[in-house]
Amino acid sequence: MAREQVRKPMMAANWKMNKLADEAEEYVVRLLPQISNVEGVDVAIFAPFTCLGRVASMTRDTAVIAGAQNFYYEDSGAFTGEVSAPMLKDVGAGAVIVGHSERREIFGETDEMVARKTARAISAGLLPIVCVGETKEERDAGEMWDKCSGQVQSVFEELDNVNGDDIVFAYEPIWAIGTGDTASPEDSQDAIGKIRALLKELRGEQFASQVRILYGGSIKRDNIGEIMAQKDVDGGLAGGASLDPVSFAGLVNAASSS
Ligand code: PEP
Repeated sequence: MAREQVRKPMMAANWKMNKLADEAEEYVVRLLPQISNVEGVDVAIFAPFTCLGRVASMTRDTAVIAGAQNFYYEDSGAFTGEVSAPMLKDVGAGAVIVGHSERREIFGETDEMVARKTARAISAGLLPIVCVGETKEERDAGEMWDKCSGQVQSVFEELDNVNGDDIVFAYEPIWAIGTGDTASPEDSQDAIGKIRALLKELRGEQFASQVRILYGGSIKRDNIGEIMAQKDVDGGLAGGASLDPVSFAGLVNAASSS
């Protein structure tokens, strides 16, 4: 049975470092007809920089939001290899992933950088999807909440006036990313419910009831339904299962009937 809908669900594809521009184009051509009848779900594709402009122009008159997987919080200057918020806007991006665990763990992004990026995304009119989550070692040591609450709290150190619909959080336990080891619906609800309660403490009832919190980590067509049936889970951020348009369309359709 469909849950009571308080917030509009979101289903997001994180392509990571995959797809050449022609492959991206073929994907969008195949995806759009499969989701054209879907209502009541925000759909986002987070593409590599090299094909983001193409994805953005192909989805301009559709309900699909084109997004980037990263950016730097300064607008221009001597930051070799980086891309700024105005550059993302310039190619038509509407959203950006911030603080993905692969950026934090492989590229050394700190909580402070994540906070600055989040603030700059919002001020530039980009919707940030802010990722938080614990490692297997942290979970086994009973430190899941210490880690996640610290990451969530630090985001607000750079934010003044924001509304709940200016930002999306994604709870992505690192042990579940790309491993096939999905968090149980109960564990997803436990972490996401705690994040929402913390947001209420930090920014009040209205903010906490508006803000969307997604689950990410080995979601597939056969587990997304029960995860999204949890009362605080507002959608999914999919890596592996988003690379094929038929598979991603299945997730979008599942989100629409949740
Ligand atoms: C991700 O990278 O955000 C992700 C959730 O990946 P996967 O679905 O492959 O676990």
